[in-house]
Amino acid sequence: MSGGVRIGQGFDIHRLVAGRPLRLGGVEIPFERGLLGHSDGDAVLHAVCDALLGAIAAGDIGTHFPDSEPRYHGADSAVLLAEVTRLLGERGYAVGNVDVNVLAEQPRLAPHFAAMRQRIAAVLGVPVDAVSVKARTLEGLGEIGRGEAIAALAVCTVVRGDG
Ligand code: MG
Repeated sequence: MSGGVRIGQGFDIHRLVAGRPLRLGGVEIPFERGLLGHSDGDAVLHAVCDALLGAIAAGDIGTHFPDSEPRYHGADSAVLLAEVTRLLGERGYAVGNVDVNVLAEQPRLAPHFAAMRQRIAAVLGVPVDAVSVKARTLEGLGEIGRGEAIAALAVCTVVRGDG
């Protein structure tokens, strides 16, 4: 694969429902609802997975971890991200940096940014300052604004290794 530095982008959205823990960026966040999904519903980690896979033109998270696979039921998305990171290395690339934007009306996520950055960086094997996590509300507009869902956007660079 050619190119010293490549970029990728990812997007994910999950419905917020009662009776599920809220996991975002590999961190459990206290809230009365959580994200519905075949796995743990971690939209942040899913968007990061898709960004990394996009950067090496290796399909998307659904290609690698299909919903039809029972072993991904309730899966810790950090395990999926670790697997994507391993694939990246196998193709001769390392993570450069990641920038995540979470779209959520509630809960307030700023107090959890540091923990999310640390967790994502640890899984990717990069320094914490290579991972940015920020969030915004949608000013009450649409499904996300009404608190029915949380979405995440991620952009990343990957860098070709020397060997
Ligand atoms: Mg997802």
